[in-house]
Amino acid sequence: MSISQEINTFLTRVDAVAVKFNIKYKVGEYAYYKGNMVLDNVPFIEVLKKSADIFGLKFDKSLAKDIEQWIIKDIDDTLVFYNDDFNDVRNAITISKLKLDDNHYMVLIENLEKKRKLLETSDPLTNLYQKSSFISLLNDKIESEGKPFTLCTLDVDNFKELVDTYGQAIGNDVLVKISNILKQDITDGAIARFGTDDFAFAYFKSVDYQEIWGLLYKVAHDIQDIGASFVTPINVTVTIGCSRFGIDVDNLDDLFLDADKALYRGKRKGKNCFIIYDAEKHKNINIDSIRKNINVSESSGSSIIVEVVKQIYNQLNSSMDTEENLDKASEIILRGFTSDRVAIYYDGNDNTEKPIAYAFKDLQKVGTITLEPTFIGIWDQSFKNGICEISNLDVESEDGILLSTLRKQQISAVLRVPLTFKGTKIGSLEIAQFAPHKWSALEKDLLTVCASVLSIAMYKEHENIYMEHKMTIDELTGLLNYSRFMTLATNRLNESNRRMLCYYLNFERFKSINDKFGYSVGNHVLKSFASTLRKTFNNGIIARIASDRFIVMDYYDTNEDILNKFSAVKYGLDEIEHKGEKLGDYLTVSCGVYITDGTENVISAVVDKANLARNSLGTIYKSDIAIFTQEMHDKFNDEQKIEMHFPDALKNNEFKLYLQPKIDIETGKLVGAEALCRWKYENQNLLSPAQFIPKLEASGLILELDLHMFEVLCKTLRLIKDRGYTGFVPISVNLSRNQKDFEDYIDRLEAIRKKYDIDPSLIEIEITESTFTENIVEIKKLIYYIHRLGYKVAMDDFGSGYSNLSSLVECGFDVIKIDKSLCAAEKSDKKSYILEAVINMTKNLGIEIICEGVETQTQANNLLRLGCRHAQGYLYDKPLPANDFINKYMETR
Ligand code: C2E
Ligand code: CA
Ligand code: CA
Repeated sequence: MSISQEINTFLTRVDAVAVKFNIKYKVGEYAYYKGNMVLDNVPFIEVLKKSADIFGLKFDKSLAKDIEQWIIKDIDDTLVFYNDDFNDVRNAITISKLKLDDNHYMVLIENLEKKRKLLETSDPLTNLYQKSSFISLLNDKIESEGKPFTLCTLDVDNFKELVDTYGQAIGNDVLVKISNILKQDITDGAIARFGTDDFAFAYFKSVDYQEIWGLLYKVAHDIQDIGASFVTPINVTVTIGCSRFGIDVDNLDDLFLDADKALYRGKRKGKNCFIIYDAEKHKNINIDSIRKNINVSESSGSSIIVEVVKQIYNQLNSSMDTEENLDKASEIILRGFTSDRVAIYYDGNDNTEKPIAYAFKDLQKVGTITLEPTFIGIWDQSFKNGICEISNLDVESEDGILLSTLRKQQISAVLRVPLTFKGTKIGSLEIAQFAPHKWSALEKDLLTVCASVLSIAMYKEHENIYMEHKMTIDELTGLLNYSRFMTLATNRLNESNRRMLCYYLNFERFKSINDKFGYSVGNHVLKSFASTLRKTFNNGIIARIASDRFIVMDYYDTNEDILNKFSAVKYGLDEIEHKGEKLGDYLTVSCGVYITDGTENVISAVVDKANLARNSLGTIYKSDIAIFTQEMHDKFNDEQKIEMHFPDALKNNEFKLYLQPKIDIETGKLVGAEALCRWKYENQNLLSPAQFIPKLEASGLILELDLHMFEVLCKTLRLIKDRGYTGFVPISVNLSRNQKDFEDYIDRLEAIRKKYDIDPSLIEIEITESTFTENIVEIKKLIYYIHRLGYKVAMDDFGSGYSNLSSLVECGFDVIKIDKSLCAAEKSDKKSYILEAVINMTKNLGIEIICEGVETQTQANNLLRLGCRHAQGYLYDKPLPANDFINKYMETR
């Protein structure tokens, strides 16, 4: 468990103050209590005072000083402070610390007794409450405050299958991740794990429907995202049932029972949803509600009616499964009428009738029969005085679709009544005979009464979007979400014989759109993109699976069709506008495609392969669409090997230093070089950076590589010096993106440089444009830091993204390296104007400018004409092994 997760656990579960303490400045950078910031950037003494307040303890200054001393000293034990009464552990607090980095500690101040209790009663895997402690906490809460609150029970869908498929370790991981999401989302509450995959949580803040709905929506959504975080995405969904103390019930037993009822109902509805308990729907049917619903006059056969109603009533209460109850109830009706068949129909939301129970005389239940969508309307018209009766079809004069359908079914007599609840029609109840039959008044009454009783049960099954929410739709774009996609795509994969294909689409650097234009514009882009996808793939199954990732499953036509559709998607992107400005220039989408070969039956493998194809595009040479090939797959496996082999590779010096010259276009003289890395994998194949850098970046190993390469470079420079070469030129090194702590990294470079005693002016640090598009203040700070040590800083790949030149100038870059795409641009291309403008601007600012990727003399001439003198590229030389470079470009005295 990471430190921040651990802190979160304490914060949501015990009275604790968590402080991030900076020992350099002796301040608490922030202090949290129960998820809320209580102080930030104050002397630690203030934090202690505040904590003492919170815990109701006395604190004096000298004690505070002691504590501060203890924090600064490098010892690990926990401090315990007793207040007046030394024996009363309830009045004690403990202070413990966790080292975050050289300058920072996380300090936890907590109540000893509560902590002890917590440790005794928590679930070791997730650190959540166990059932008994959870219940006693709720009891305490009810006794002390008596306020209404919300209780939810949560069940992981198909957890057993998940463990069977992916193993126990992944299963545990999922559980821990779910518990972390609960801790993060439920700010004023308590969370427990009851059984393997059963969670419960209380939410003390509110019992307001809307608010709970929002909370559960977020929880369920966040949990769905867990699945995508695994290397092979898995489907993680939950079903949540919810009930409110003080609103629906007034004791804990019933509260749990009601939440479970809602949960159970959610599971029966197909899982992956949340349901807020509603008494109308979940309570047992009682005579009162029947009475309210029945409005039948006493008639001759009232005793039979009472008998049937009693039986149906008992049946409807016999189990929690409404569908099963309705099934059995219809059997009773069938018997009561000695009829040939009985059917209960829903009025589906889509204007279709949906038979949910359908029985013939031999009591065999028949599955579904399909009915024309128009049937509801036709039937509705045929109701007279709330009933529709046909005694003998053969003598009916009118003809129409309804009668002809009944004839096809060999029915002669029908009695049908509407099912209504609170004045709204929700379906129909029908009995039918094969032989002509004159319906008696008693039969009509009886059926009407049965319908009234059934309506109550039916209502429980009726959809009500406000109270339950199927987690199938992505709220922002209206596309499917990942989990729904998986279901639909799996069905299509198994049903269709046609070849399918899967697109995996991802925006590059979408974060910068949000940063540059704000979230609402980011959302606007995602929505517009979604509608373009809908238009382009009108037969496709389309989903947004994470913030800026989309997948589409479609029928395969031709490869040309794939490219055409992707062009259409890109065209749609170009058209997106914000305040009259087209945003297309800022938007790049990369796309991986996988075409099925008919052997796949697991959709996640299909999505994986599409994503693999997309990843193969790499972060370095950007083309924007790739179709999966077997080589990619093999390469992927190689990549996994790469990670495993990396430590040995470092030891065995498999990483070679290559140097590429930078040349003065006019004189042809050497002005500098760039250090680039090549990997002689197991000292056999030479791998280029595109093959391993993205992977190392993803795993964080890049840091090790960069430090290693820097050391090799310093060693080489030392050697050049010692051997007495002249004609020294500065050499640039690449600083990786994805660095967490740049200053720390620069410090480590500095230590290496000192070790070899290299003049810092000989070293230039290249920062990629995309590393820092966002935060100017951060860049400024970093550059200032690097400059103090005497290195130069270059902005790499300028023009590949969309940095604003003037702000980069303001940051203090010494050199701007223009990306090869700019210098290769055709005359009429927009990029060629950018090139010209950039060169013009830098001229007067004292910033050096160099163009990379110069391949032809024409390009070089053009650069010179525009005023850029320096170039790097194949026109002059490719990157050379360091020794070759030295031999070719340097001279001994
Ligand atoms: P970069 O920093 O943009 O490096 C320039 C790339 O352009 C190099 O690719 C170079 O070989 C290539 N190049 C040079 N002249 C031409 C030309 O005329 N035409 C074309 N098409 N390409 C040219 P390389 O060596 O494959 O490196 C790729 C990227 O990998 C580098 O891009 C850099 O970002 C990264 N990289 C290389 N070595 C290291 C390293 O040691 N550490 C880190 N963090 N990144 C590295
Ligand atoms: Ca570079
Ligand atoms: Ca570059």
